[in-house]
Amino acid sequence: MKPPTSKEQDVQIYCTEVLDRFWLTDRVFEIKLSKPSTFRFMAGQRIRLLHGAIRRDYSLITAPHDPTLALCLKMIEGGEYSPILSSAEPGTRLSFTGPMGYFTYRPSNKPAVFVATGTGIAPFLSMVRTGVTDFTLLHGVHEAKSLYYQDIFRPAARLYIPCLAADADETGSGENVFRGRVSHYLAEHLAPNAYDFYLCGRQEMIRDVTLLVDEKFPGSLIYTEVFY
Ligand SMILES: Cc1cc2nc3c(=O)[nH]c(=O)nc-3n(C[C@H](O)[C@H](O)[C@H](O)COP(=O)(O)OP(=O)(O)OC[C@H]3O[C@@H](n4cnc5c(N)ncnc54)[C@H](O)[C@@H]3O)c2cc1C
Repeated sequence: MKPPTSKEQDVQIYCTEVLDRFWLTDRVFEIKLSKPSTFRFMAGQRIRLLHGAIRRDYSLITAPHDPTLALCLKMIEGGEYSPILSSAEPGTRLSFTGPMGYFTYRPSNKPAVFVATGTGIAPFLSMVRTGVTDFTLLHGVHEAKSLYYQDIFRPAARLYIPCLAADADETGSGENVFRGRVSHYLAEHLAPNAYDFYLCGRQEMIRDVTLLVDEKFPGSLIYTEVFY
């Protein structure tokens, strides 16, 4: 492994080991990691995995009190690092820095609306595992099989709306399924009000929803975590 840069010499580097890895769909997998005894984080935060010169950030999906760490990753065809992680066997040693980020749940008197695309669902999983409930969650995915973790979200959410690609040809994808983008659902169905929006995933989604909130939901707050 490449020696840490001088900037990294100031931050603590943790060592961890792959405990398990399994596929949630043909492109998305979960990876469980051992938790270094001194590592602490808040639900919604992320870690930065170090691999030679490569640095990649991933949101933790476990709760801070859980005995292990876990990540939910999309394997990017042709990507530099996610294909390596997608074939990491149990026992593989990894190093990381963190925790990082401010994408944490802030209780308030406004209703919370969580909006995720793809693996952008990850930080919300950690929040729910920490006891956050009564939110509206929109999860934008291409097809129903990508609604991973819905069994965890449905009982905790006030309203859970899968948003499937408009052209997805699926049956049996459950009740309350919306065909179209998360931004279209918000524009067409969310009652005018002030909310706390938490947006995580693709930057286009975050841009579209931010513009919509400015126009349609004045008085709202927006917290964002951009994945790519
Ligand atoms: C704050 C933060 C948190 C993140 N948390 C997660 C997480 O919890 N789970 C997760 O899967 N990823 C997460 N990411 C993305 C992750 O850091 C990597 O960018 C991703 O794994 C791709 O790395 P790679 O080396 O395989 O591909 P690269 O070689 O870096 O990139 C190849 C191409 O894929 C694009 N790309 C990157 N991510 C995606 C994606 N999800 N879908 C489609 N195209 C993409 C890149 O823009 C680039 O064009 C997060 C990113 C940030 C900044």
